[in-house]
Amino acid sequence: MGLSKSFGGTVALTPADLTVDAGEFLVIVGPSGCGKSTLLRLVAGLEEPSAGRILIGERDMTHAAPADRGLAMVFQSYALYPHLTVAENIGFPLRVARRGKAEIAARVREVADLLELGDLLGRRPAALSGGQRQRVSIARAIVREPSVLLLDEPLSNLDAELRVRMRHEFARLHARLGSTMIYVTHDQLEAMTLANRIVVMNAGRIEQVGAPLELYDAPASLAVARAIGSPGMNLLPGQTTDDGAVRLVDGTRLGTATTLPPGSAVTVGIRPEHLVPAEEGLFGGPVELFERLGPLSFAHLGGTDTEHALVAQLPGDRRVTLGETLRFGIDPTRVHLFGPDGNRLPP
Ligand code: ATP
Repeated sequence: MGLSKSFGGTVALTPADLTVDAGEFLVIVGPSGCGKSTLLRLVAGLEEPSAGRILIGERDMTHAAPADRGLAMVFQSYALYPHLTVAENIGFPLRVARRGKAEIAARVREVADLLELGDLLGRRPAALSGGQRQRVSIARAIVREPSVLLLDEPLSNLDAELRVRMRHEFARLHARLGSTMIYVTHDQLEAMTLANRIVVMNAGRIEQVGAPLELYDAPASLAVARAIGSPGMNLLPGQTTDDGAVRLVDGTRLGTATTLPPGSAVTVGIRPEHLVPAEEGLFGGPVELFERLGPLSFAHLGGTDTEHALVAQLPGDRRVTLGETLRFGIDPTRVHLFGPDGNRLPP
């Protein structure tokens, strides 16, 4: 509550209020440097807040030592103890907690099996791949069944295939452990698929908190529109006209009505899948880049000026030649409108 953090003159986090429900999978996204890690480190107790309070359960933990907060953490640089084996690394938190030898051995075995590390228990970290090390650090974090697990880009160093596997693993782990997870990522798929709620941060501020589809379908600001969706929403500069419509800079007139005064600068947002192929469509341009993903494709259209560059989603089997001009129409109910301050305008 009212949590903030400055480093000297740099404000990393402006006063923020955020409540995380027990058992929730909360994902924090936002551009580099927006304060995601700072927020997580404040919760973990690795940074002292400049102001505000941190409650965990009912208890004020603002000044509690990290070890007393009942949290476990996984960071992208998975610092394992190099001189300890995998089993000793995983069991370390239990040893610190003075659990019995037999109990430690059983728990380590159980968690290692869960993360498919059973065959590697005798190895030292230097003899592991990056993905295996990352799994050991996750195993070490969950071995005490923490009620809250903090994860800062835990999959960032893995190859694509392992990332997907580990993403599924986190979903299963969350379902099985029922722990509260706070997860920082740059990855759209991780955010959309894992989160119960997503927190979008921008320039040290929390921009919006909501269910993934809520944010996708109704981003509260341009920052949220940019942060959610890949490829991102098409954002086109425009102006309101004398009769309350919107005109794009190239003169294209949209029927979208606004209550802003004439001449106000607005931004029109259209998701790539909401551009519908239409011969006489409002939007178009030559295909400059065509990305075939299999089940679907993305056509990048260049305009004569860059402000008109658009990305449109097409079916996977659609044939396109580079340079070919494609035109698209839009369903006006799918258009997002943002005002001069970057905030979403009501439809
Ligand atoms: P990334 O996605 O690149 O990891 P982030 O959203 O996690 O970024 P933070 O690491 O929270 O961003 O940093 C937020 C701001 O605070 C940045 O401007 C950063 O330079 C600054 N900052 C973070 N830690 C410190 C520090 N120890 N001293 C000074 N400035 C810091």
